[in-house]
Amino acid sequence: MTISTLEQAPDVLVIGGGNAALCAALMAAEAGASVLLLEAAPREWRGGNSGHTRNLRCMHDAPQDVLVEAYPEEEYWQDLLKVTGGITNEKLARLVIRASSTCRDWMRKHGVHFQPPLSGALHVARTNAFFMGGGKALVNAYYRSAEKLGVKIRYNAPVDKLDIQDGRFIAAYVKGERISAKTCVLAAGGFESNLDWLREAWGQNEHGEWPADNFLIRGTQYNQGVLLKHLLEHGADRIGDPTQAHMVAIDARAPLYDGGICTRIDCVSLGVVVNRQGERFYDEGEDFWPKRYAIWGRLVAQQPGQIGYSIIDAKAVGRFMPPVFPGVQADTLPELAAKLGLPVDTFMRTLDDYNRACRVGTFDHTRLDDCHTDGVNPAKTHWARPIDTGPFYGYALRPGITFTYLGLKTDETAAVRFNDVPSDNLFVAGEMMSGNVLGKGYTAGVGMSIGTAFGRIAGTQAALAALSVKEASHANA
Ligand SMILES: Cc1cc2nc3c(=O)[nH]c(=O)nc-3n(C[C@H](O)[C@H](O)[C@H](O)COP(=O)(O)OP(=O)(O)OC[C@H]3O[C@@H](n4cnc5c(N)ncnc54)[C@H](O)[C@@H]3O)c2cc1C
Repeated sequence: MTISTLEQAPDVLVIGGGNAALCAALMAAEAGASVLLLEAAPREWRGGNSGHTRNLRCMHDAPQDVLVEAYPEEEYWQDLLKVTGGITNEKLARLVIRASSTCRDWMRKHGVHFQPPLSGALHVARTNAFFMGGGKALVNAYYRSAEKLGVKIRYNAPVDKLDIQDGRFIAAYVKGERISAKTCVLAAGGFESNLDWLREAWGQNEHGEWPADNFLIRGTQYNQGVLLKHLLEHGADRIGDPTQAHMVAIDARAPLYDGGICTRIDCVSLGVVVNRQGERFYDEGEDFWPKRYAIWGRLVAQQPGQIGYSIIDAKAVGRFMPPVFPGVQADTLPELAAKLGLPVDTFMRTLDDYNRACRVGTFDHTRLDDCHTDGVNPAKTHWARPIDTGPFYGYALRPGITFTYLGLKTDETAAVRFNDVPSDNLFVAGEMMSGNVLGKGYTAGVGMSIGTAFGRIAGTQAALAALSVKEASHANA
């Protein structure tokens, strides 16, 4: 069955139902194109990972409604450069940064409201604009606006393959149904929900373990990477490393999918983290938590058994957003180690070495303070205070994968490229291309900046391409 037998093929087909897809659909509809959006999830699970978000990182040169002070382009760029270690496309990154300074009026027009961060957020009142009601409210507002603009939406519509000829989109297939359109935007997320693909990408470690078997997925179960794999197998240019991802160390008790932000454990920089052998393995105070939280999932993934334990004492309590489930509590450190199932002797040696090495200056968690260690490896370079005041708390941590960075290579037009030639009617946005900007690392809020910037570009370009085909065929008629 073909859609054209049921109704007219749309100008623009948008595949995906999260932020990037919705931005594309809205822009295409605003440009006058007819739009059909295919969301793999049922209506109640619509919105993908975008439904879990809270904010987007915004460049601004002066205070703006909910954003304080300034966050100029250069500082944003330097932050991105630092976290990616230079594995980023500067042209595309700057495009995202600049777009983040102008997109919010458009977002408001489509029903998104902003608010200042509540206390306990990751020190981001200057850099990040928070969505009132979170990502779920944003997604719902965009769906409402899209429906008002006449965008047709189909749920339970996972696209499994595309018909592409000579780099041009012809049609998409949903459970055997063929859906043709003049142009297409791919915004179907990364492959983070696909446990088999993660297993294959991460392989086996030196202990014979398959690290991905212990990963938890923080967001949707619907980002299976089916189209990403299909496109890569059909010659689309790729970007990124399949093992690179936004990965957070989350509560080991979190569910396999959709645990969301409340499973995060935000006390790492206030204490120490040990592996199951009771040994520290990384500088817990390297930088502000918003700039570091996304590397800890990977660090834990590299430990034996893919597990870590965040250890704090009573001094840390009240200084971080409390996790949903209470930590394991004990009055003494040996008791805590025993309760966590850690080797008590090694654990105590690690804690004693760390405590002895602490050089406490003026503790200040809001700046890179002068409390550091001396003579212990790894060092803790900020916020280092002895863990010596009971009760003591421990939280088991697992790698929580947020989204993967392997994607389709693109350019400033959001076109999918085949052998370095841009397609004239197939575009990509969001996680499916975030690897162009994020080779590795992360800085809070940039996922939504990328999806919003490229979703809007992709929608505009797809509408332009579709409408110019329409005009040309009218002229020839
Ligand atoms: C817990 C959590 C918190 C986060 N917090 C933030 C934050 O505060 N700020 C920030 O910037 N980023 C945050 N992120 C990252 C952010 O969610 C992503 O960067 C962003 O949402 C990506 O948008 P997207 O539209 O590309 O993907 P998604 O929102 O995941 O949308 C992908 C869509 O594609 C659909 N889909 C998948 N496969 C198919 C298919 N074959 N056919 C049809 N549809 C398909 C899915 O159902 C889904 O609707 C967070 C992520 C998580 C998991």
